[in-house]
Amino acid sequence: MKYWQPMHELAICQALIAQVAAVARSEHASSVTDVYVSVGPLSGVECPLVRSAFPFAAAGTVAGEATLHLRQTPVRVSCEDCGAETEVAANRLICGRCSNWRTQLISGDELLLQRVVMRSGRPRRNNDV
Ligand SMILES: [Zn+2]
Repeated sequence: MKYWQPMHELAICQALIAQVAAVARSEHASSVTDVYVSVGPLSGVECPLVRSAFPFAAAGTVAGEATLHLRQTPVRVSCEDCGAETEVAANRLICGRCSNWRTQLISGDELLLQRVVMRSGRPRRNNDV
């Protein structure tokens, strides 16, 4: 039986937001407009859940208005026999050239913050309030 674990994805989003906020701080950005994240099929992360959890994690932060862009990365393995690096299905980690099962995972299990798009660093003067 599969059950939903929203806390997992929320925790992931909170960790992402912490990274985004650190980038924004170091660039003196006033706000973040876009966040690009790459997700491997073997990362154990459900993209739709990340999408729905992101606004909750981002609320009230510098990324509160940011759009999340998720990109699925391919699964790649390197063969211990023939040395080929091939793209494979997530449930079939065999060498694409010689069908050997002894392979090393090169990519596909990662969740990476790739890019943060920010608004200008100049702090805006705030005359209203
Ligand atoms: Zn091979």
